[in-house]
Parts: sequence; structure tokens; C-alpha cells
Amino acid sequence: MKQIDIADLRQKNPQEQAIFFTNKGKIVIENSSPLLPLGSTLDRLGMSIQAVYRKENILIVHLDEEEKSFPANITVLLARDYFLLLCDQPEIEEMILKAAHWMVANRTNQFCSCCGSALEKVLETTEKKCTSCQRSFFPKLSPAVLVLIERGEEILLARGSQHPLGMYTALAGFIDLGESAEQTVHREVREEVGLEVTNLKYFGSQSWPFPDSFMMAFQADYLHGDINIDPNELEEARWFHRDEMPLLPPPSTLSRRLIDSFLRRKK
Ligand SMILES: [Zn+2]
Repeated sequence: MKQIDIADLRQKNPQEQAIFFTNKGKIVIENSSPLLPLGSTLDRLGMSIQAVYRKENILIVHLDEEEKSFPANITVLLARDYFLLLCDQPEIEEMILKAAHWMVANRTNQFCSCCGSALEKVLETTEKKCTSCQRSFFPKLSPAVLVLIERGEEILLARGSQHPLGMYTALAGFIDLGESAEQTVHREVREEVGLEVTNLKYFGSQSWPFPDSFMMAFQADYLHGDINIDPNELEEARWFHRDEMPLLPPPSTLSRRLIDSFLRRKK
């Protein structure tokens, strides 16, 4: 991913499509699409630009303002909500994951955490450099695990207050200092739902930029215990039979891929 200079881009290729974010991290949508022509959209929004990055063939524009009134047909949505609820094209979902992560990194990396001076963007990279002590800063990833617990024909799915209404997903938790991903799985399952699991199998990974996670997914078998949720973490957790799946996250999420893999095996 490269930071680029916007100065002459508008003149050279005003029709190039871009994804726009407000300074609050909301994504700009018109007719359900986040891919909008650069020049005319900037003209219509009338907002200044904080930075522009290019990731492969996508331009990602970080607008310098938070919220204001938008022209007819244009709306803004939290990027996570757009991803989970509205977007249904895998290639656009892929772009959103990358664009949203850069947007979060750009917004939250403004000052040096060692000396407090302003950070300067380094063109052609995702790096930022301290203008005083010269330390380099790169986008942060917070490693986390996802675990789908299987018990015969059933899986354990849970929902937290941050999930869209009615949506259930696999358990997730951040890796603590000094832990392996496998240790995190056992600890999180114990803390969040009071169960013990066994036979962990690594499944896959995904960057999850809401705000900056890097998820590693595992399948696990139920060992023993009764569900006893931590109400600070979850609203509900329960076993679902393979024939009675609730509303699930979209197919491009790692959680859904875990669940779909279970359903395929149990056909
Ligand atoms: Zn510094």
C-alpha cells in the first residue's frame, strides 16, 4: 500500500474510482456502492483531503472533515456496518478490508508515542516518521483468535452487543502478552463461556480492520462444561444444530468460512 500525492491526480484521471472515508471512519456510499469517481465526488462533497493511498488499483481517500450534510443520494455508514450488512460483492469486500485498515491507521497514528512530536507521512509506503526523534511507525495489527467449538452436529455461536441484531458468530478474543494463539483459545473459551475444549486445529487467518485485528481461526471440539457466559463480553451463547443456523456474518468473513466448513463436513 502506498501513500500518494493527490496534487495532480485529479487533473490526470478525474474519473478514477476511489473509496472515501470521513475523518470519523465512516465510508461514503452512493447507490449502495462505495466506489465513486474521484474528481466529481470531491467536487460534490466539497471537503478537503487529509491523505490518499493507493492499494493495487484502488484509491483510498481520507477526507479531512468529520460529518456534515451530504448531497442528495450520498450517505455515510460505519465501514464495519457497510461490510457486514450491505456489501455483497467479494471483490469490494476485499477492498473495504484493506481500505478501512489503512484509514484507521492513518487516523490514529498522528503523534510519536515516544516524544509526542507530529508524525510525517512517508510517500510510497505506509510508514510514518517522527519529525523530531526520527522513529518509524507502521500500521498496528492486534492479533486475536477465532474459535468454532463443535459438539457432534452442533456448534457454539455467540453474540455480543456490538453485533448487528440477531447475528451470531464464532467466539473471538485478543492474544494476551506472552501467550500462544492456542493458549488464548483455551483461556478465552473458559472466560467467555465457561467451557473446556480440545483437538484445536488451525483453520486460516484474516486481517479484520474494525479497528485493527489480525484474526487466526481454529476449529475445536467440546470437551466438558456447561455454558456460563461472561455478561461483560457476550449477550448470549448457545449451541446451534447444523439444520438451524441463525443469521450469520457474510461469506467473506473468516468466522463464516469456519461455520461453512463445519456445515459442509456435516452434510
Ligand atoms: Zn519522536
